[in-house]
Amino acid sequence: MSPNNKATLFLVATPIGNLNEVSPRCLDVLRSVDVIACEDTRNSAKLLSHFDIHTKTITYHNFNERQSSKGILSLLEKGESVALISDAGYPLISDPGYLLVNEVIDADFDIVTISGPNAALNALVASGLETSHYLFYGFLNAKSSQAEKQLKELKDFPYTLIFYEAPHRIEKTLQLALEVLGDRKACLARELTKLHEQFHRGKLSELCELHDLKGEMVLLIEGCKEEKAPDQDELLEKVKALVDDGQRAKDAIKQIAEAHHVSKNELYEAYLKKKEEDDGSF
Ligand code: SAM
Repeated sequence: MSPNNKATLFLVATPIGNLNEVSPRCLDVLRSVDVIACEDTRNSAKLLSHFDIHTKTITYHNFNERQSSKGILSLLEKGESVALISDAGYPLISDPGYLLVNEVIDADFDIVTISGPNAALNALVASGLETSHYLFYGFLNAKSSQAEKQLKELKDFPYTLIFYEAPHRIEKTLQLALEVLGDRKACLARELTKLHEQFHRGKLSELCELHDLKGEMVLLIEGCKEEKAPDQDELLEKVKALVDDGQRAKDAIKQIAEAHHVSKNELYEAYLKKKEEDDGSF
């Protein structure tokens, strides 16, 4: 099973709702490894018993990753193969496993990923928002003041933003996103792959009118569409490029000031100052 016949850590994505999304390869791996390391053995027991899988399970703890990683490394050292699964979707994606993967890389064992469902991607492709570039952020901080800071950092980011959110926090998060990012296009994808899957698409202000939102959910928000106005140094660089190309400084300043809707006189003064500072070489 391992490409190099070495002990292998399999990172196995499992269903995010609909158990029919499990792949034959996923089942093969879960049946054939020596141990399955679960985020929560009780949650994974439902999946494993549904597919009549009786592989030994152990817990891989989020709150004690270092200790849990050591245990898994010692299994790999004994030549045993291990599958890491989370409660749903990909391990490591807003779920434990990052530390383990790095320790397994350092110890030079093989790592194999078994593809499967992921809530962020399921939501993105049906959201109607730009898919060519996006940022998966995961969960915002549970404290509003921290979440506000995080959103401010993302404000100018031009690509679709993807957040995981809990139902008891979603109304606050939508309100905060509206305040910090403005009234952008957004989509709230709920209960993906399940019976009551639902996509709420609209402006953030419209999503803020939804109440009693239940179930698991992904919030997607359009990236920043406002063009950032160039600062003065950038404008002066543009003037310099035209002057270097042979234009008279006065004409170059007029052209750049008009193109960027800034004062011609202020740009001229800044140009003279910069020229003086740079000893005429500007
Ligand atoms: N590892 C998972 C993945 O690859 O998608 C994510 C795990 S994270 C702890 C759980 C969060 O993922 C939920 O709070 C929700 O935001 C999102 N999520 C998971 N399953 C979902 C589903 N069926 N529908 C919508 N969102 C889901």
